[in-house]
Amino acid sequence: MINDQRKKHDHYLKMHNISGIARMIGQSHEMDAKRSDGAIIPIEFSVSEFRSNGQRMFTGIIHDIAKRKKIEERLRAEERRSRTILTNAGAGVSIVGLEGDFIQINERLCSMLQYSNDELLKLSLYDVTHEHDIKHSQSEIKSLINQEKEKSSIEKRYVRKDKSHFWCETNISLVVDDYGKPDYLIGLSVDISERKEYERNLKKAVTAADQANKAKSEFLSSMSHELRTPLNSIMGFAQILDMDTENPLTEKQISQVKYIIKGGEHLLELIDEVLDLARIEDGKLTLSIESVDLISLLSDCLSFAKTLASKKAIKIIDRVGDQQPDIYVDHLRAKQALLNLLSNAVKYNGPNGTVWLDAECHQQGFLRIRVTDTGIGIAEDKIAEVFQPFNRLGAEATDVEGTGIGLVLTKKLVEEMGGEIGFESLQGQGSSFWIDFPLTKEKSARKTFENSPDEPIIDVTSQSRLLLYVEDNPANLVLMEAIVSAIPNLDMVSAHTAELGLVLAEERWPDVIILDINLPGMDGIEALKHFYALDSSKHIPILALSADAMPSSVQRGLQAGFRDYLTKPINVRKLQTVLKEVLS
Ligand code: ADP
Repeated sequence: MINDQRKKHDHYLKMHNISGIARMIGQSHEMDAKRSDGAIIPIEFSVSEFRSNGQRMFTGIIHDIAKRKKIEERLRAEERRSRTILTNAGAGVSIVGLEGDFIQINERLCSMLQYSNDELLKLSLYDVTHEHDIKHSQSEIKSLINQEKEKSSIEKRYVRKDKSHFWCETNISLVVDDYGKPDYLIGLSVDISERKEYERNLKKAVTAADQANKAKSEFLSSMSHELRTPLNSIMGFAQILDMDTENPLTEKQISQVKYIIKGGEHLLELIDEVLDLARIEDGKLTLSIESVDLISLLSDCLSFAKTLASKKAIKIIDRVGDQQPDIYVDHLRAKQALLNLLSNAVKYNGPNGTVWLDAECHQQGFLRIRVTDTGIGIAEDKIAEVFQPFNRLGAEATDVEGTGIGLVLTKKLVEEMGGEIGFESLQGQGSSFWIDFPLTKEKSARKTFENSPDEPIIDVTSQSRLLLYVEDNPANLVLMEAIVSAIPNLDMVSAHTAELGLVLAEERWPDVIILDINLPGMDGIEALKHFYALDSSKHIPILALSADAMPSSVQRGLQAGFRDYLTKPINVRKLQTVLKEVLS
């Protein structure tokens, strides 16, 4: 470099004759010059000519251009850098005019589009954009040019030279000139075909999973329906036999009938719990979280647990007190969770055992409800299995009834409500199960639901009344007849289709109608509208009685206008209560 500079310098120094200088007139020349201190510096040298006293004279102007040279060198380096980035970028880069014409394209974009650089320079951005994405591209570029937005990022399809297409994510920005006027656009395109393919497959998988889920829900719903229908006869007739005062059963028969009822209840519990579990797993459990008055919730639970406990002479000691904050839970599900702990504390307790109920503020924002018992406890090697579905930890070999899913369900319910569950247990000494329920932030007053008392219903009314029962299952019809025959002053007529039921309603003017939902021909929901349109039945209570016990179906039935929606298997006492209510 220095040698080069020296050469130029020598050259300059040699330009001392007039003809050499004359050749430089009117032009600027860059060259190196030697300063008096010996340093070589870049200069710009320009010569002008003038005459003085007829003599040809020359003026030479020298500019030190060292600074300018440095700037130029820096700019060249920057340009080299930009070109390297452009060439080696993993993304396709293009500089595009405001009309979409390509001005500069990097190699990556050329290879992505399968065109040569020269070929692409003759095309516009829209020539290589998929026809379905042109409008979108144009409107994005328009809004950039109008400076409505600074950057645009779109997913679009590019068309290759062989007419195949691929997906790109393209980021475009506008470059303006010194006066702020739109000059050109810079586009950066990344091939996202793989991601798009993945998204497509994911979508397919989600749709397939949704369909499978729907099929599972339908299966569960129909399984529940199919199981409840025969259970209705089993449990219904067993209850009728048990309650028959006219032809009372022998002691032995009563105890056998009790087994039938117990077995039926167990099966029913199993169906409900399995359905609940499936619903939670499907994310279909709808919770209505609200501020709940703990004291009234506990008193609901205790009244039920005490009935269980009294059978085994077990004492339940409530140590909760009456000053407790409200908890923020689903009332029904919190009750279900607590009842499970209380009934386990009774079930797995010995005669004359004790159960304590306590409440303590355990951690900020939570209230711990603890159920402690003096029961059999849980062996240390079984502790890890407590929350496993259908694992009864050996209790299946005893005569303690259970399904082995109560605690699994309780855990899931508690967690769905934002709480936690845990326990401590010592074999042979007892267990202490607890639930941490979230507290309500602000204490609010709330009315809790009342549990319907299990009072026996005998007399429905003193006047003679008529029930119209629409049901296609002969066993269910016979069962209802048996139930009705035990109620004084109530008669029954029946129809096995809704169409026939409507004719009967017009002829007999019933006082109450019970409709099955799943009927051949017109279904119960549809039939309800027709019954309400008849003069003979527009003002009377119409109840649904169905084996479809899915909460959504119950909701649909109530929304359709049924006075009540009862599920099969029939709880004879509950049906009597409802009949008494609607007929009085
Ligand atoms: P189950 O319907 O069998 O009672 P759970 O899911 O409620 O089902 O409980 C699972 C198992 O945990 C029970 O079968 C029992 O062996 C054990 N268990 C639950 N609670 C207690 C308790 N308080 N004391 C002793 N064992 C218990």
